[in-house]
Amino acid sequence: MFRQNNTSNTVMSEDKFWESKTLQQMSHHEWESLCDGCGLCCLVKIEDEDTGEIFNTTVSCRQLDTQSCRCRDYKNRLADVPMCIQITLDNLPQLNWLPDSCAYKLLYEGEPLPSWHPLLTGNNHTVHDAGVSAKWFAQSEEYIHPEQLVEFIVFPEK
Ligand code: SF4
Ligand code: SF4
Repeated sequence: MFRQNNTSNTVMSEDKFWESKTLQQMSHHEWESLCDGCGLCCLVKIEDEDTGEIFNTTVSCRQLDTQSCRCRDYKNRLADVPMCIQITLDNLPQLNWLPDSCAYKLLYEGEPLPSWHPLLTGNNHTVHDAGVSAKWFAQSEEYIHPEQLVEFIVFPEK
């Protein structure tokens, strides 16, 4: 499980900085506003000890509000949750478990933002309406025994 931001993206951005700037050139606020709030990076992951392969589950970090898909304590997340990882320019290339819809991954790979992205729609809910958020299936780890986690693995489509 990892990280998302709590920046409000409700104002549609006029200048489309994500098209005119590289990730390296973005301000902190611009970088944070790229997060669409899908919550998918806050799903608990399981690593295969033998192969190192990482599997997603449908279980979400205890700090994720599964209705809004926002972190309940974004400011202190890294101290509160040891497994929470901050996405940075340095680690982005290694985070291959990020969903294909993640704006950081898309821009890093030279792809445009999807039409439902809050920066384009001016509406935080469009990520949920598009069906690409954890809102529709996430179950908080508060209610799952750690030994049951393996039952919630989502295997990638072949
Ligand atoms: S997967 Fe990417 S866009 Fe979605 S919440 Fe995480 S950082 Fe934000
Ligand atoms: S602490 Fe917050 S940002 Fe980090 S994984 Fe949990 S819900 Fe996501």
